[in-house]
Amino acid sequence: MVWETIRKESAPRVTPNLTDYDRARSEFSWSRARAALAGLPGGGLNIAHEAVDRHAGSERGGRAALRCVGRDATVRTVTYAELAKRTARFANALRSLGAGHGDRVFTLLGRCPELYTAVLGTLKNTSVLCPLFSAFGPDPVAQRLRLGDARVLVTTAALYRRKVAELRAALPGLDHVIIVGPGAGDLPGTLSFDELMSRASDHFAIPATSPEDMALLHFTSGTTGAPKGAVHVHQAVLGHYATAAYALDLHPEDVYWCTADPGWVTGMSYGIIAPLVHGVTVVVDEGEYDAGRWYRILAEQHVSVWYTAPTALRMLMRATPRQGPHDLPASYDLSRLRFVASVGEPLNPEAVVWGHEVLGLPVHDNWWQTETGSIMIANFAACEIRPGSMGRPLPGVEASVLRCGDDGRALVTDGRVRVENRPGVEGELALRPDWPSMFRGYLHDKERYEAAFADGWYLTGDLVSRDADGWFWFVGRADDVIKSAGHLIGPFEVESALMEHRAVAEAGVIGRPDPVAGNIVKAFISLRPGVQPTPAIERDLLAFARRRLGPAVAPREIAFDQNLPKTRSGKVMRRLLRARELGLPTGDLSTLEGSA
Ligand code: ATP
Ligand code: MG
Repeated sequence: MVWETIRKESAPRVTPNLTDYDRARSEFSWSRARAALAGLPGGGLNIAHEAVDRHAGSERGGRAALRCVGRDATVRTVTYAELAKRTARFANALRSLGAGHGDRVFTLLGRCPELYTAVLGTLKNTSVLCPLFSAFGPDPVAQRLRLGDARVLVTTAALYRRKVAELRAALPGLDHVIIVGPGAGDLPGTLSFDELMSRASDHFAIPATSPEDMALLHFTSGTTGAPKGAVHVHQAVLGHYATAAYALDLHPEDVYWCTADPGWVTGMSYGIIAPLVHGVTVVVDEGEYDAGRWYRILAEQHVSVWYTAPTALRMLMRATPRQGPHDLPASYDLSRLRFVASVGEPLNPEAVVWGHEVLGLPVHDNWWQTETGSIMIANFAACEIRPGSMGRPLPGVEASVLRCGDDGRALVTDGRVRVENRPGVEGELALRPDWPSMFRGYLHDKERYEAAFADGWYLTGDLVSRDADGWFWFVGRADDVIKSAGHLIGPFEVESALMEHRAVAEAGVIGRPDPVAGNIVKAFISLRPGVQPTPAIERDLLAFARRRLGPAVAPREIAFDQNLPKTRSGKVMRRLLRARELGLPTGDLSTLEGSA
């Protein structure tokens, strides 16, 4: 199906930060963008100063920085001035424990206010923050604490008991465990967050911080293999700020909600840092996904800018289909919502259009990785949307398509790559690594880091094509792309087509080795509620896909699976579907959703 371009209203409610794409690109420079940041009073650059202290000392001090919606719907508000004091206390508490510059502080917490205090207090203290997703089981937690050289861990009594206590002896470098909430007294070898905070002063002068000082350690999602620890520095804040202005169109008066957990890079860069640097009010949902709850938060909190993920949007679509009565969204007042964006996985065109029709706003897809630290390619508020395209490179970002070899990775001959200038031809997405939030290494894995660069480009491992007007289209991860009868097939294209079928909620597509074709395309499908997996549906789906995609690309086999394996950040784990299908070792499963 050909999806129509979505054009924007000529008089938007708020004038977008980027109104003329070409002009914004030609006028942009990172050094000029730096003028929007304050810098430390004594020189240097520290993320927490930009995110908190500079606002606390200004007329924004009394504004709500965080609005935390509890599981029971009670709302706790923290102003910028209060956040400055709390984070100062936490920085002093760390200092009192002897934890300082460069020491690794890990968080293993739900989305509670203390998490935000710990993150920003750690950055004030020039220690390095590494967030862990609180649903990780004991092994992934221990693996990351060890890999990341954890010195301090901030968690709750329940999480500590279940996930850390037993393995503590095997973590000799972990000097301090700080317990948020009650229970520290009953757990040997732990300290109480509240007690440490009450003893600490709420004045803290951020020490000299170099823009190149390590600030954050982020483990990747583990979609294609074992998670890697990506190192980011304080200077990343410039990337967070500028990209949030352009790709999320943040304005100072916005109320903003990023649904990603801060255990992942999106929840940190765009759930904490970028919005606070912009001085907006950040909505934090301490609860889990529920369609009614989410619409209620959007309405009651007056969310104006919303950053979410394809998997969440697809769950909302399942709950509120386009064809049916739009009861759920219609019963909430979403009139404050003015901009919706999505990241993390390919956004199928149907989801973009669903937003347009059901929420009254199209969804703006954007692309980036843990490694890039900030959004690289995006659809912008002022620009048309071509559903299915992830958009165009941000000002300050140079992106290219590189010609690929048989292995689906960029061809490097005598150290040189070839830029693919023909529109529509697939190749590896590459970026000129000169933006401030680019990762500075994979922790303890120099070789892997170096292998990610060639001929002055950073090779992303994703396959894309670019159309004649410069829009980028995602094809697949190099590891997921299927070679079948001489064609290179991106699973996303097949999944998107299948999801246009009324019976399909989600799909994961892999290649299954075949003696004749090399590989045949196999689709795993989860059906919408109420649809039964019958042979008739299977036939209908196969025929539907053949009509949409042609016989060379359409799946030859279908399996029904209501629980597609996903990473905890919500991405379909095709490598696991493939391993199960072929009886291969399943590899690292630490980020598999639902695993212990
Ligand atoms: P790992 O590197 O451990 O396999 P991961 O790549 O999923 O995990 P992240 O850094 O969280 O870890 O995700 C970045 C990847 O997510 C991108 O390289 C891309 O494959 C995918 N992605 C992100 N945004 C988009 C998007 N808008 N469209 C398509 N794919 C996207
Ligand atoms: Mg990756």
